[in-house]
Amino acid sequence: MAAQNSADSQKEQTNILTSTQSVVKDALERLGYPDEAYELMKEPVRMITVRIPVRMDDGKIKVFTGYRAQHNDAVGPTKGGVRFHPNVSEMEVRALSIWMTLKSGIVDLPYGGGKGGIVCDPREMSFRELEALSRGYVRALSQVVGPTKDIPAPDVFTNSQIMAWMMDEYSRIDEFNNPGFITGKPIVLGGSHGRESATAKGVTICIEEACKKRGIKLQGARVIVQGFGNAGSFLAKFMHDMGAKVIAISDAEGALHDPEGLDIDYLLDRRDSFGTVTNLFEDTLSNDEMLELDTDILVPAAIENQITEENAHNIQADIVVEAANGPTTLKATEILTERDILIVPDVLASSGGVTVSYFEWVQNNQGYYWKEEEVQEKLRQVLVKAFNNVYTTAQNRNIDMRLAAYMVGVRKMTEAARFRGWI
Ligand code: GLU
Repeated sequence: MAAQNSADSQKEQTNILTSTQSVVKDALERLGYPDEAYELMKEPVRMITVRIPVRMDDGKIKVFTGYRAQHNDAVGPTKGGVRFHPNVSEMEVRALSIWMTLKSGIVDLPYGGGKGGIVCDPREMSFRELEALSRGYVRALSQVVGPTKDIPAPDVFTNSQIMAWMMDEYSRIDEFNNPGFITGKPIVLGGSHGRESATAKGVTICIEEACKKRGIKLQGARVIVQGFGNAGSFLAKFMHDMGAKVIAISDAEGALHDPEGLDIDYLLDRRDSFGTVTNLFEDTLSNDEMLELDTDILVPAAIENQITEENAHNIQADIVVEAANGPTTLKATEILTERDILIVPDVLASSGGVTVSYFEWVQNNQGYYWKEEEVQEKLRQVLVKAFNNVYTTAQNRNIDMRLAAYMVGVRKMTEAARFRGWI
Protein backbone atom coordinates (compact mmCIF):
# COMPACT_ATOMS: atom_id res chain seq x y z
CA MET A 1 0.00 0.00 0.00
CA ALA A 2 2.77 2.44 0.91
CA ALA A 3 4.65 1.59 -2.30
CA GLN A 4 1.45 2.12 -4.27
CA ASN A 5 0.90 5.51 -2.65
CA SER A 6 4.38 6.68 -3.39
CA ALA A 7 4.11 5.45 -7.02
CA ASP A 8 0.85 7.41 -7.37
CA SER A 9 2.25 10.57 -5.88
CA GLN A 10 5.34 10.30 -8.12
CA LYS A 11 3.04 10.04 -11.15
CA GLU A 12 1.01 13.09 -10.11
CA GLN A 13 4.09 15.15 -9.45
CA THR A 14 5.57 14.26 -12.84
CA ASN A 15 2.32 15.50 -14.31
CA ILE A 16 2.54 18.78 -12.45
CA LEU A 17 5.91 19.53 -14.02
CA THR A 18 5.14 18.31 -17.52
CA SER A 19 1.73 19.97 -17.59
CA THR A 20 3.22 23.25 -16.35
CA GLN A 21 5.88 23.01 -19.03
CA SER A 22 3.31 22.37 -21.74
CA VAL A 23 1.28 25.47 -20.84
CA VAL A 24 4.47 27.56 -20.60
CA LYS A 25 5.46 26.35 -24.08
CA ASP A 26 2.04 27.20 -25.50
CA ALA A 27 2.11 30.66 -23.87
CA LEU A 28 5.59 31.48 -25.20
CA GLU A 29 4.71 30.31 -28.71
CA ARG A 30 1.53 32.38 -28.78
CA LEU A 31 3.59 35.41 -27.77
CA GLY A 32 5.98 34.68 -30.64
CA TYR A 33 9.11 34.07 -28.57
CA PRO A 34 11.88 31.87 -29.98
CA ASP A 35 12.42 28.26 -28.79
CA GLU A 36 15.36 29.40 -26.65
CA ALA A 37 12.87 31.19 -24.39
CA TYR A 38 11.22 27.85 -23.61
CA GLU A 39 14.60 26.15 -23.14
CA LEU A 40 15.41 28.72 -20.47
CA MET A 41 11.98 28.70 -18.83
CA LYS A 42 11.26 24.98 -18.67
CA GLU A 43 13.52 24.18 -15.68
CA PRO A 44 14.98 26.08 -12.72
CA VAL A 45 18.42 27.60 -13.40
CA ARG A 46 19.57 26.19 -10.07
CA MET A 47 18.31 23.17 -8.13
CA ILE A 48 19.88 22.37 -4.79
CA THR A 49 19.41 19.26 -2.65
CA VAL A 50 20.52 19.33 0.96
CA ARG A 51 20.70 16.73 3.71
CA ILE A 52 19.95 18.04 7.18
CA PRO A 53 20.90 16.02 10.29
CA VAL A 54 18.67 16.70 13.30
CA ARG A 55 19.00 15.26 16.79
CA MET A 56 15.48 14.09 17.58
CA ASP A 57 13.92 14.14 21.05
CA ASP A 58 14.70 10.42 21.50
CA GLY A 59 18.43 11.23 21.22
CA LYS A 60 18.87 9.67 17.78
CA ILE A 61 19.99 11.55 14.66
CA LYS A 62 17.58 11.68 11.75
CA VAL A 63 18.76 13.03 8.40
CA PHE A 64 16.14 14.95 6.39
CA THR A 65 16.21 15.81 2.68
CA GLY A 66 15.47 19.37 1.59
CA TYR A 67 15.33 21.18 -1.74
CA ARG A 68 15.52 24.70 -3.05
CA ALA A 69 14.74 25.50 -6.68
CA GLN A 70 15.72 28.90 -8.09
CA HIS A 71 13.77 29.07 -11.29
CA ASN A 72 15.03 32.26 -12.85
CA ASP A 73 16.70 35.44 -11.63
CA ALA A 74 16.52 37.53 -14.83
CA VAL A 75 14.01 39.95 -13.25
CA GLY A 76 15.45 40.04 -9.73
CA PRO A 77 16.10 37.79 -6.73
CA THR A 78 14.17 34.53 -6.69
CA LYS A 79 11.24 34.35 -4.27
CA GLY A 80 8.94 31.68 -2.94
CA GLY A 81 7.88 29.59 0.01
CA VAL A 82 9.29 26.54 1.77
CA ARG A 83 6.92 23.63 2.44
CA PHE A 84 7.31 20.97 5.10
CA HIS A 85 5.42 17.88 3.95
CA PRO A 86 5.97 14.11 3.62
CA ASN A 87 5.13 14.23 -0.13
CA VAL A 88 7.65 16.95 -1.02
CA SER A 89 9.72 15.84 -4.01
CA GLU A 90 12.32 17.38 -6.27
CA MET A 91 9.84 17.29 -9.17
CA GLU A 92 7.17 19.13 -7.20
CA VAL A 93 9.60 21.83 -6.04
CA ARG A 94 10.76 22.36 -9.65
CA ALA A 95 7.19 22.87 -10.86
CA LEU A 96 6.29 25.12 -7.93
CA SER A 97 9.30 27.34 -8.64
CA ILE A 98 8.06 27.89 -12.21
CA TRP A 99 4.65 28.86 -10.82
CA MET A 100 6.35 31.44 -8.61
CA THR A 101 7.97 33.07 -11.66
CA LEU A 102 4.52 33.18 -13.26
CA LYS A 103 2.90 34.68 -10.14
CA SER A 104 5.54 37.41 -9.89
CA GLY A 105 5.06 38.17 -13.59
CA ILE A 106 1.26 38.34 -13.26
CA VAL A 107 1.29 40.77 -10.32
CA ASP A 108 4.35 42.54 -11.69
CA LEU A 109 6.84 42.09 -8.85
CA PRO A 110 10.61 42.58 -9.25
CA TYR A 111 11.30 38.89 -8.56
CA GLY A 112 11.95 35.59 -10.25
CA GLY A 113 10.45 32.36 -8.91
CA GLY A 114 11.88 30.10 -6.24
CA LYS A 115 10.54 27.31 -4.07
CA GLY A 116 11.78 25.04 -1.34
CA GLY A 117 10.67 22.03 0.60
CA ILE A 118 11.71 19.52 3.22
CA VAL A 119 10.49 15.93 3.24
CA CYS A 120 9.13 15.64 6.78
CA ASP A 121 5.87 15.43 8.70
CA PRO A 122 5.68 18.44 11.03
CA ARG A 123 2.49 16.99 12.57
CA GLU A 124 4.68 14.36 14.19
CA MET A 125 7.56 16.58 15.27
CA SER A 126 8.10 18.56 18.46
CA PHE A 127 8.70 22.31 18.52
CA ARG A 128 12.35 21.72 19.33
CA GLU A 129 12.83 19.29 16.44
CA LEU A 130 11.14 21.71 14.03
CA GLU A 131 13.40 24.53 15.17
CA ALA A 132 16.51 22.40 14.61
CA LEU A 133 15.27 21.37 11.17
CA SER A 134 14.45 24.96 10.15
CA ARG A 135 17.85 26.23 11.28
CA GLY A 136 19.62 23.30 9.60
CA TYR A 137 17.90 24.07 6.28
CA VAL A 138 19.13 27.68 6.38
CA ARG A 139 22.69 26.64 7.33
CA ALA A 140 22.77 24.22 4.42
CA LEU A 141 21.62 26.90 1.95
CA SER A 142 23.17 30.03 3.46
CA GLN A 143 25.55 30.65 0.54
CA VAL A 144 22.84 30.75 -2.11
CA VAL A 145 19.96 32.52 -0.34
CA GLY A 146 19.70 36.09 0.98
CA PRO A 147 17.71 39.32 0.66
CA THR A 148 19.17 40.12 -2.76
CA LYS A 149 19.52 36.50 -3.96
CA ASP A 150 16.65 34.25 -2.97
CA ILE A 151 13.99 35.10 -0.39
CA PRO A 152 12.00 32.27 1.26
CA ALA A 153 8.50 32.51 2.78
CA PRO A 154 5.83 30.26 4.32
CA ASP A 155 4.03 27.55 2.36
CA VAL A 156 2.24 24.30 3.26
CA PHE A 157 2.76 23.52 7.00
CA THR A 158 5.25 26.35 7.59
CA ASN A 159 4.37 29.51 9.52
CA SER A 160 5.67 32.75 11.02
CA GLN A 161 7.45 30.91 13.87
CA ILE A 162 9.43 28.84 11.37
CA MET A 163 10.23 32.03 9.42
CA ALA A 164 11.46 33.61 12.67
CA TRP A 165 13.87 30.71 13.38
CA MET A 166 15.12 30.80 9.81
CA MET A 167 15.63 34.57 9.91
CA ASP A 168 17.49 34.30 13.21
CA GLU A 169 19.77 31.57 11.85
CA TYR A 170 20.54 33.57 8.71
CA SER A 171 21.22 36.71 10.76
CA ARG A 172 23.67 34.77 12.94
CA ILE A 173 25.54 33.42 9.93
CA ASP A 174 25.55 36.81 8.24
CA GLU A 175 26.51 38.55 11.53
CA PHE A 176 23.90 41.16 10.72
CA ASN A 177 20.25 41.60 11.64
CA ASN A 178 18.70 40.73 8.34
CA PRO A 179 14.88 40.76 8.28
CA GLY A 180 14.65 41.06 4.46
CA PHE A 181 16.11 37.56 4.10
CA ILE A 182 12.68 35.99 4.55
CA THR A 183 9.02 37.07 4.52
CA GLY A 184 6.00 35.92 6.48
CA LYS A 185 7.74 36.81 9.76
CA PRO A 186 5.96 37.72 13.01
CA ILE A 187 5.14 41.46 13.09
CA VAL A 188 7.63 42.14 15.94
CA LEU A 189 10.47 40.78 13.77
CA GLY A 190 9.66 42.94 10.74
CA GLY A 191 6.64 41.08 9.40
CA SER A 192 3.96 42.99 7.53
CA HIS A 193 0.42 43.65 8.61
CA GLY A 194 -1.90 41.60 6.47
CA ARG A 195 0.67 38.98 5.40
CA GLU A 196 -0.92 36.07 7.24
CA SER A 197 -4.28 36.53 5.56
CA ALA A 198 -2.87 37.84 2.25
CA THR A 199 -3.37 34.71 0.16
CA ALA A 200 -7.02 34.50 1.21
CA LYS A 201 -7.49 38.26 0.68
CA GLY A 202 -6.15 37.88 -2.86
CA VAL A 203 -8.49 34.95 -3.48
CA THR A 204 -11.39 37.04 -2.10
CA ILE A 205 -10.61 39.89 -4.51
CA CYS A 206 -10.52 37.39 -7.41
CA ILE A 207 -13.87 35.94 -6.30
CA GLU A 208 -15.40 39.44 -6.20
CA GLU A 209 -14.10 40.23 -9.68
CA ALA A 210 -15.17 36.85 -11.10
CA CYS A 211 -18.66 37.29 -9.60
CA LYS A 212 -18.97 40.68 -11.34
CA LYS A 213 -18.08 39.07 -14.67
CA ARG A 214 -20.58 36.27 -14.17
CA GLY A 215 -23.35 38.44 -12.72
CA ILE A 216 -23.34 36.59 -9.37
CA LYS A 217 -24.12 38.49 -6.16
CA LEU A 218 -21.62 37.45 -3.50
CA GLN A 219 -24.12 38.28 -0.75
CA GLY A 220 -26.01 35.01 -0.27
CA ALA A 221 -23.92 33.06 -2.82
CA ARG A 222 -23.05 29.47 -1.90
CA VAL A 223 -19.33 28.79 -1.42
CA ILE A 224 -17.43 25.53 -0.89
CA VAL A 225 -13.89 25.73 0.49
CA GLN A 226 -11.69 22.65 0.21
CA GLY A 227 -8.90 22.81 2.80
CA PHE A 228 -8.88 24.58 6.16
CA GLY A 229 -5.22 25.57 6.37
CA ASN A 230 -3.93 29.15 6.11
CA ALA A 231 -5.65 30.05 2.84
CA GLY A 232 -8.84 28.01 3.33
CA SER A 233 -9.61 29.08 6.90
CA PHE A 234 -9.09 32.82 6.33
CA LEU A 235 -11.06 32.57 3.11
CA ALA A 236 -14.03 30.84 4.76
CA LYS A 237 -14.03 33.62 7.35
CA PHE A 238 -13.89 36.41 4.75
CA MET A 239 -16.68 34.82 2.69
CA HIS A 240 -18.84 34.35 5.80
CA ASP A 241 -18.23 37.96 6.94
CA MET A 242 -19.12 39.26 3.47
CA GLY A 243 -22.52 37.56 3.62
CA ALA A 244 -21.81 34.55 1.41
CA LYS A 245 -23.04 31.17 2.59
CA VAL A 246 -20.16 28.76 3.22
CA ILE A 247 -22.06 25.50 2.74
CA ALA A 248 -19.09 23.11 2.99
CA ILE A 249 -15.49 23.01 4.16
CA SER A 250 -12.98 20.16 4.36
CA ASP A 251 -9.61 19.17 5.73
CA ALA A 252 -7.36 16.16 5.07
CA GLU A 253 -9.70 13.88 7.08
CA GLY A 254 -13.10 14.73 5.61
CA ALA A 255 -15.71 17.39 4.88
CA LEU A 256 -18.64 19.10 6.61
CA HIS A 257 -21.77 20.19 4.76
CA ASP A 258 -24.76 22.32 5.72
CA PRO A 259 -26.89 23.75 2.90
CA GLU A 260 -27.96 26.54 5.29
CA GLY A 261 -24.34 27.59 5.87
CA LEU A 262 -21.79 26.38 8.42
CA ASP A 263 -20.90 28.16 11.67
CA ILE A 264 -17.47 29.28 10.49
CA ASP A 265 -16.47 31.12 13.68
CA TYR A 266 -17.10 27.96 15.71
CA LEU A 267 -15.06 25.82 13.27
CA LEU A 268 -12.19 28.31 13.29
CA ASP A 269 -12.18 28.24 17.04
CA ARG A 270 -11.95 24.43 17.11
CA ARG A 271 -9.42 23.81 14.31
CA ASP A 272 -5.94 22.67 15.29
CA SER A 273 -2.77 24.44 14.11
CA PHE A 274 -2.57 22.20 11.00
CA GLY A 275 -6.14 23.04 9.99
CA THR A 276 -7.88 19.86 11.12
CA VAL A 277 -11.40 20.19 12.49
CA THR A 278 -13.66 17.60 10.81
CA ASN A 279 -12.34 14.85 13.13
CA LEU A 280 -14.51 16.41 15.88
CA PHE A 281 -17.71 15.55 13.98
CA GLU A 282 -19.44 12.27 13.17
CA ASP A 283 -21.53 13.27 10.20
CA THR A 284 -18.89 13.93 7.56
CA LEU A 285 -18.52 13.55 3.80
CA SER A 286 -15.41 12.66 1.85
CA ASN A 287 -13.48 15.37 0.03
CA ASP A 288 -14.52 13.81 -3.29
CA GLU A 289 -18.21 13.92 -2.38
CA MET A 290 -17.91 17.54 -1.27
CA LEU A 291 -16.36 18.72 -4.54
CA GLU A 292 -19.44 17.55 -6.45
CA LEU A 293 -22.05 19.37 -4.31
CA ASP A 294 -24.25 22.01 -5.92
CA THR A 295 -22.75 25.47 -5.31
CA ASP A 296 -22.06 28.85 -6.93
CA ILE A 297 -18.39 29.11 -6.07
CA LEU A 298 -15.86 26.32 -5.43
CA VAL A 299 -12.48 27.14 -3.94
CA PRO A 300 -9.92 24.32 -3.84
CA ALA A 301 -7.50 25.55 -1.15
CA ALA A 302 -5.70 22.32 -0.29
CA ILE A 303 -3.32 20.37 -2.49
CA GLU A 304 -2.63 19.41 -6.11
CA ASN A 305 -4.75 17.34 -8.51
CA GLN A 306 -8.16 17.53 -6.81
CA ILE A 307 -10.26 18.24 -9.90
CA THR A 308 -9.30 15.73 -12.56
CA GLU A 309 -10.88 14.25 -15.66
CA GLU A 310 -12.60 11.77 -13.33
CA ASN A 311 -14.75 14.32 -11.48
CA ALA A 312 -14.67 17.44 -13.72
CA HIS A 313 -17.94 16.44 -15.40
CA ASN A 314 -19.66 16.37 -11.99
CA ILE A 315 -18.50 19.75 -10.67
CA GLN A 316 -21.59 21.94 -10.21
CA ALA A 317 -20.04 25.34 -9.47
CA ASP A 318 -20.28 28.35 -11.80
CA ILE A 319 -16.88 29.63 -10.76
CA VAL A 320 -13.79 27.71 -9.57
CA VAL A 321 -11.16 29.88 -7.91
CA GLU A 322 -7.88 28.06 -7.23
CA ALA A 323 -6.41 29.09 -3.88
CA ALA A 324 -4.14 26.02 -3.81
CA ASN A 325 -1.28 25.46 -6.21
CA GLY A 326 -2.25 23.06 -9.02
CA PRO A 327 -5.64 21.73 -7.82
CA THR A 328 -7.07 21.28 -11.34
CA THR A 329 -5.41 19.15 -14.01
CA LEU A 330 -5.15 20.37 -17.61
CA LYS A 331 -7.67 17.84 -18.84
CA ALA A 332 -10.09 18.96 -16.12
CA THR A 333 -9.47 22.60 -17.09
CA GLU A 334 -10.58 21.73 -20.63
CA ILE A 335 -13.70 19.95 -19.41
CA LEU A 336 -14.72 22.76 -17.04
CA THR A 337 -14.11 25.39 -19.72
CA GLU A 338 -16.24 23.46 -22.22
CA ARG A 339 -18.98 23.39 -19.59
CA ASP A 340 -18.69 27.20 -19.31
CA ILE A 341 -17.37 27.10 -15.74
CA LEU A 342 -15.03 30.03 -15.14
CA ILE A 343 -11.68 28.92 -13.68
CA VAL A 344 -9.55 31.56 -12.02
CA PRO A 345 -6.15 29.84 -12.08
CA ASP A 346 -3.79 29.36 -9.12
CA VAL A 347 -1.00 31.53 -10.49
CA LEU A 348 -3.40 34.50 -10.39
CA ALA A 349 -5.78 33.63 -7.54
CA SER A 350 -3.08 32.71 -5.01
CA SER A 351 -0.70 35.55 -5.82
CA GLY A 352 -1.87 37.71 -2.88
CA GLY A 353 0.63 35.94 -0.60
CA VAL A 354 3.72 36.77 -2.59
CA THR A 355 2.37 40.29 -3.23
CA VAL A 356 2.25 41.10 0.48
CA SER A 357 5.59 39.28 0.89
CA TYR A 358 6.95 41.83 -1.55
CA PHE A 359 5.41 44.63 0.55
CA GLU A 360 7.07 43.10 3.63
CA TRP A 361 10.47 43.02 1.91
CA VAL A 362 10.06 46.65 0.75
CA GLN A 363 9.21 47.69 4.33
CA ASN A 364 12.26 45.80 5.62
CA ASN A 365 14.49 47.51 3.06
CA GLN A 366 13.09 50.92 3.98
CA GLY A 367 12.94 50.29 7.72
CA TYR A 368 9.56 52.04 7.58
CA TYR A 369 6.37 50.12 8.33
CA TRP A 370 2.93 50.57 6.81
CA LYS A 371 -0.49 50.49 8.43
CA GLU A 372 -2.82 47.54 7.76
CA GLU A 373 -5.12 49.75 5.62
CA GLU A 374 -2.22 50.77 3.39
CA VAL A 375 -1.28 47.13 2.80
CA GLN A 376 -4.88 46.17 2.03
CA GLU A 377 -5.40 49.05 -0.36
CA LYS A 378 -2.21 48.32 -2.28
CA LEU A 379 -3.01 44.60 -2.42
CA ARG A 380 -6.45 45.34 -3.85
CA GLN A 381 -5.01 47.64 -6.52
CA VAL A 382 -2.48 45.00 -7.59
CA LEU A 383 -4.94 42.09 -7.66
CA VAL A 384 -7.81 43.91 -9.42
CA LYS A 385 -5.40 45.04 -12.13
CA ALA A 386 -3.89 41.55 -12.50
CA PHE A 387 -7.30 39.86 -12.62
CA ASN A 388 -8.62 42.18 -15.31
CA ASN A 389 -5.42 41.96 -17.32
CA VAL A 390 -5.68 38.15 -17.39
CA TYR A 391 -9.46 38.19 -17.97
CA THR A 392 -9.16 40.58 -20.93
CA THR A 393 -6.33 38.54 -22.42
CA ALA A 394 -8.50 35.43 -22.18
CA GLN A 395 -11.51 37.18 -23.75
CA ASN A 396 -9.52 38.80 -26.57
CA ARG A 397 -7.79 35.58 -27.54
CA ASN A 398 -10.69 33.28 -26.80
CA ILE A 399 -8.63 31.12 -24.44
CA ASP A 400 -9.12 29.97 -20.85
CA MET A 401 -7.83 32.09 -17.98
CA ARG A 402 -5.06 29.60 -17.17
CA LEU A 403 -3.39 29.97 -20.54
CA ALA A 404 -4.04 33.73 -20.44
CA ALA A 405 -2.40 33.96 -16.98
CA TYR A 406 0.64 32.03 -18.24
CA MET A 407 0.88 34.41 -21.21
CA VAL A 408 0.84 37.41 -18.89
CA GLY A 409 3.19 35.65 -16.44
CA VAL A 410 5.97 34.56 -18.80
CA ARG A 411 6.36 37.89 -20.50
CA LYS A 412 8.30 39.84 -17.87
CA MET A 413 10.91 37.14 -17.31
CA THR A 414 11.38 36.56 -21.00
CA GLU A 415 11.78 40.27 -21.77
CA ALA A 416 14.28 40.63 -18.90
CA ALA A 417 16.26 37.63 -20.19
CA ARG A 418 16.33 39.16 -23.67
CA PHE A 419 17.65 42.50 -22.46
CA ARG A 420 20.32 40.66 -20.50
CA GLY A 421 21.35 38.87 -23.69
CA TRP A 422 20.53 35.38 -22.34
CA ILE A 423 18.26 34.42 -25.20
N1 GLU B 1 4.10 30.16 -0.62
C1 GLU B 1 3.33 31.23 -1.16
C2 GLU B 1 3.01 30.97 -2.62
O1 GLU B 1 3.03 29.84 -3.07
C3 GLU B 1 3.96 32.59 -0.89
C4 GLU B 1 5.33 32.81 -1.44
C5 GLU B 1 5.98 34.09 -0.96
O2 GLU B 1 5.37 34.81 -0.20
O3 GLU B 1 7.12 34.33 -1.35
O4 GLU B 1 2.67 31.85 -3.36
